Amino acid sequence: MLTRESVWEALSSVYDPELGRPITDLDMVQDIHIEGSTVLVEILLTVEGCPLSHRIERDVEKALRERAGAGEVRVKLGIMTEEQRQALVEKIRGPQPQPRSAILDPDSPTRVIAVASGKGGVGKSTVTVNLAVALAQEGYRVGLLDADIHGFSIPTLLDLQGPPRVFEKAIVPMEAYGLQVMSMGFLTGPRQAVVWRGPMISGAVEQFLRDVLWGDLDYLLVDLPPGTGDVALTVATKLRRAQMLLVTTPEATSTNVAQRAGIFAEKTELRILGVVENMAYFRCPHCGEVTHIFGKGGGKMMAQILGTELLAQIPLEVKVREGSDSGRPIVATDPESEAAKTFRKLALQVAALTGAAPSELRA
Ligand code: ADP
Repeated sequence: MLTRESVWEALSSVYDPELGRPITDLDMVQDIHIEGSTVLVEILLTVEGCPLSHRIERDVEKALRERAGAGEVRVKLGIMTEEQRQALVEKIRGPQPQPRSAILDPDSPTRVIAVASGKGGVGKSTVTVNLAVALAQEGYRVGLLDADIHGFSIPTLLDLQGPPRVFEKAIVPMEAYGLQVMSMGFLTGPRQAVVWRGPMISGAVEQFLRDVLWGDLDYLLVDLPPGTGDVALTVATKLRRAQMLLVTTPEATSTNVAQRAGIFAEKTELRILGVVENMAYFRCPHCGEVTHIFGKGGGKMMAQILGTELLAQIPLEVKVREGSDSGRPIVATDPESEAAKTFRKLALQVAALTGAAPSELRA
């Protein structure tokens, strides 16, 4: 038996793909009409020609059939008025005169994981992207902030090009593989370099945290620039609940990095979540023999020095690199590969250590 309540309940499971919140919370459900087993709903889109309208339509239909047991579903799409849009933005970020994302609220339930490395090229961004997608596959709502303002690589790793949509003077994160994503690269274009000094860069990161319309996120993964500079400090001070995940490679030169990271974490009172050793070994695809191309033990040593766990050892795989180059992360494109399985195990460990229940389970 279809009721308004059961229809509403079903619709509350449909998220606006860009704003990352249930359409029922966003006042997008304008009208519900039930006739026997047929449901007619009117959904208000935030802008005319919304590129994701088909997806919302499809999700609404699916939810009403599967969750509410509707026979036939008819979706009428409308457009919000200017007043409705204003009210919506106020609802998302509160009535403050200065736009302010809920992520900065000390009581926000969003877990923040800052992914750091001592130097560039160890695969920090690759690990961040694959961990983010793996967490999303587990049903978590995940945001990904590319805080590497000079050396952004997230747009390439996810094959995303800006500019992002601006909604009532606020930036809407871009969407890929179920993630909400923001990067300086969306604003500058792939080949333009950002030539800014430290304080401006920290300002940009702060603005990305404050002014971007992040949805209800279980996790925000922050891809830090290499080292423990200004940006890491901004993240640590603005998001006191952030936890640091360190990515390293297996060569035994990570002692200095570990010490610096340890001092940084101590000074900023940032908790260290653990260490990920990337490019840990190569398994021959023909005979299965394992070769430690970059040596052995760097990740374990780093974890020991920091008094934390080595959470994962990610193999060196051609497909990981190909996935990064083509903007299609291996956890999504080749889930049965050894690297993808290791990323998924890492995601489960991160979830266990940070204790978040996936949104889908909570709903
Ligand atoms: P960082 O963010 O630390 O600078 P990237 O994530 O950009 O590093 O990775 C550097 C290069 O190494 C990229 O070409 C990436 O595709 C490749 N890479 C990273 N991890 C792996 C891996 N496990 N196997 C193969 N190639 C990898």
